Amino acid sequence: MSKKLFIKTYGCQMNVYDSARMADALVPHGYRATDRADDADLVILNTCHIREKAAEKVYSELGRLRRLRERRRARGADMVIGVAGCVAQAEGQEMLERAPFVDIVVGPQAYHRLPELLHRRARVKASVLDTDFPVESKFDRLPEELATPPGISAFLTVQEGCDKFCTFCVVPYTRGAEASRPAAAILAEACRLVAAGAREITLLGQNVNAYRGEGPDGRPWSLGRLIRSLAEVEDLARIRYTTSHPRDVSDDLIEAHGSVDKLMPFLHLPVQSGADAMLQAMNRRHTADDYRRIVERLRRARPDLALSSDFIVGFPGETDRDFAATLALVEEIGFAQAFSFKYSPRPGTPAAGMRRQIKDAQKSERLARLQALLAEQARAFNAGVVGQVLPVLLERPGRHPGQQVGRTPYLQAVHVEAAGRGLGQTIEVLITESHSHSLAAVPVEPPAARPGANRRGMPACA
Ligand code: SF4
Repeated sequence: MSKKLFIKTYGCQMNVYDSARMADALVPHGYRATDRADDADLVILNTCHIREKAAEKVYSELGRLRRLRERRRARGADMVIGVAGCVAQAEGQEMLERAPFVDIVVGPQAYHRLPELLHRRARVKASVLDTDFPVESKFDRLPEELATPPGISAFLTVQEGCDKFCTFCVVPYTRGAEASRPAAAILAEACRLVAAGAREITLLGQNVNAYRGEGPDGRPWSLGRLIRSLAEVEDLARIRYTTSHPRDVSDDLIEAHGSVDKLMPFLHLPVQSGADAMLQAMNRRHTADDYRRIVERLRRARPDLALSSDFIVGFPGETDRDFAATLALVEEIGFAQAFSFKYSPRPGTPAAGMRRQIKDAQKSERLARLQALLAEQARAFNAGVVGQVLPVLLERPGRHPGQQVGRTPYLQAVHVEAAGRGLGQTIEVLITESHSHSLAAVPVEPPAARPGANRRGMPACA
């Protein structure tokens, strides 16, 4: 009899991808997905450590699950509770001590072993823990078969881990050192995603542009080289990648932005601060001017490139002048969208112990000013495409009959009155309105060919 699996995913796209792969690993063992935790025989929390008080939030969710399990047990059913992801990795044994009712704790590099952990737990009738960084790659052990269709826009992890050790970040401790998957495995997975209906693939990595995977020729491939090869995949219309580090923006990657039509003109390139003193204290390994130069070169290669970024305000020691430098950088670069946060200490990171922590009221005041500027830029960017004809990849039905929702090359959500057009098609639309988080558009007749369709027509998927 099949068992039901519920995975709750926190955090970034990499966790969304990991949750899908956990399902891939478990479906051959008799599990099928449910969207209700109270209906599930196995509940997994796939956790993220980036946000403030992440571990506390997981413990409180675990308390809720424990009560849910008690109610199921009263009905004669049971529930296995698992915790995966970065909080599982960071807490490890401590999680089993603090929440001994948790059955499985598994780190982000070991989730391919979930079926084995479930068996072990049933055998030993006790909680099991696996937060190893195994020698074998999980990607070699995960089934090729997809448990659920990927959707029009799919994620594909190409790189994991980080060697940068920014002083505010836990990722190098929870995800380990930078490691890249071989290009052949990525190309094969891309082909499977496209065969299952995906038309856009976002390449994922904590430091995706640090990609140095082994190429089919035995040499290390850069991200630019990988993108050029992926662009040969017939029926793959769009390629994106995230998240990048300014240090790893290579000449080759810049060149790919200028020459690969399928590589979308939108780049998330975190800068965090516009002040060199802060960048140094954060151990970002680049200056504000380095960032300016990189953006200038990228825009020379691809003049319509839209940028997104991450900002931290109120990092320890940040002065009014440092904050003004951040505002100046934002004014100068101009961002299509951005994520901005108040600095909050993560236990175990160097910045948590730094002197000159900034008062919360001051952080809030700076964040409000920065967000007002970023929101104004985002509004202006969206308003700037009104009246333009843009290619939109249709991703899902809209709320009204005949309406579809897609995205522009610049990642803007667009509601299109596109009755009769199939999901997965890229159509030319006239942008008619801009709202705070989306655009409205009407199709332009006749439907145009997909942008960036494989011009050389080389079928990369055998
Ligand atoms: S580059 Fe810095 S912020 Fe990004 S994952 Fe690595 S340590 Fe964290």
